[in-house]
Amino acid sequence: MTTLDLECKDTIAALLTGSGDGVINVVRISGAAAVDVRDRVFVKHKGGPHKNGVMHLGHANCAGVPMEALCVTFGGTRTFTGEPCVELHGMGGRINAARLLDAVLGGGARQAMPGEFSLRAFLHGRLSLDQAEAVAALLTAQSTQAAVAATRLREGVLARALEPLRESVLSLLAETEAYLDFPDDGLPPQRVAAQRAMALDVADSLLSLLRGHERTRRMLEGARVVLWGAPNAGKSTLLNVLCGEARAIVDEVPGTTRDVVEAHVLWGGMPITLLDTAGVRDATGRVEQEGIRRSQEAAAKADLVLYCISADTRSESLLDPPAGVPVLVVETKGDLASKWGAAPAAARHLGTESLTVSALVGEGMETLRARMEDRLGGMRPDGDVVTATARQGELLTLAAEGLKAAMAARDVRDPEEVIAEHLRQAARCLGEVSGRAMPPEEVLGVIFSRFCIGK
Ligand code: GDP
Repeated sequence: MTTLDLECKDTIAALLTGSGDGVINVVRISGAAAVDVRDRVFVKHKGGPHKNGVMHLGHANCAGVPMEALCVTFGGTRTFTGEPCVELHGMGGRINAARLLDAVLGGGARQAMPGEFSLRAFLHGRLSLDQAEAVAALLTAQSTQAAVAATRLREGVLARALEPLRESVLSLLAETEAYLDFPDDGLPPQRVAAQRAMALDVADSLLSLLRGHERTRRMLEGARVVLWGAPNAGKSTLLNVLCGEARAIVDEVPGTTRDVVEAHVLWGGMPITLLDTAGVRDATGRVEQEGIRRSQEAAAKADLVLYCISADTRSESLLDPPAGVPVLVVETKGDLASKWGAAPAAARHLGTESLTVSALVGEGMETLRARMEDRLGGMRPDGDVVTATARQGELLTLAAEGLKAAMAARDVRDPEEVIAEHLRQAARCLGEVSGRAMPPEEVLGVIFSRFCIGK
């Protein structure tokens, strides 16, 4: 969205039913003039007024040609968007979708931007920001588990869990601010101790929420696993066996996989993207170097890197995966007799574990998969409160940091104003998760532009 209509001045409309392939098309009109637009477009067959929430038969006037339609009006503010809404249900098909929408736009509504109905629901207090984000996650869920996790978020579990924490921070802030006017008195020592205990308690709770964060994010968005290693290490063969189909090209000539090959699997409800990358060795060719650059880029963003080292590799100048990314060393071609121990050595060097497989013979694959599932954080959603989007994760991290910074500032006897500022930051971040504290307009733009039109 370029500029957001935060005052909700326009009456907006969009097709709710996607591309128009279905048997019916539904157009939603939302805004102060929704009923006026309806009356310009829709002719009710029976006399009498429209009843709230009741479907009426009639026809829509589409450029002079009537289209049989049903119409339901939701007046008042207890609607999805928090403002008057009308839905027109017309005949299916793409052409009819365009005809119906054109009629409504001709009747005085403006085409809604992506996510604009949900934005209005947020602005009118019908949906918190975390709930709106859950709506988007629900629409793009790739597995039943993802849909279940998104539904829980949609119910507002996160905002409910955060509210008492935010209140604790606000009470810390209020007490600190109360002493700002009396700098000579300062906070009494017993209150300093009590504040510290409370701040650290809240920070701990935030950190434990964050521990579930990555896991939920992977559940919703999918985990990314990158196969890393020298050319001919057996990465493509391993990828093929892991996803059970011949997705990557397997070749004996080193350097076959120059681009990044993606394969998607669903393991125990978690969508996983396996990425086979160019072999990583000191390359001179320009194309190959570009492939290596892409491998590094993919690995840096991975949730797990499988560092493939062939059992018959003696010693090779291998490039380590980017620092900070979780790595599992896989000794490939375990069926070959010549084991030089390069894989266990790399695992020791990287401070991780190694295990041996033979993709060709099918040995060790079950163990590998189980270890991968372990490392990706388990596959079963539990009943915990979860955070999902990167935005929520960042805000929780910032809030925990603000609390810790506040207590550190007190330790070094910074002025109370500095401490108050850290606490304010923490409270603001917690408020921004649900939108209780209004995030900047560009943040709203980013959140809602991820939606499709009609949501
Ligand atoms: P990549 O370049 O790392 O993707 O390696 P490939 O998967 O293309 O494999 C390179 C060569 O090693 C091919 O000839 C494969 O048949 C062979 N290879 C792959 N996995 C195994 C294995 O488990 N055992 C044996 N003996 N050979 C393998």
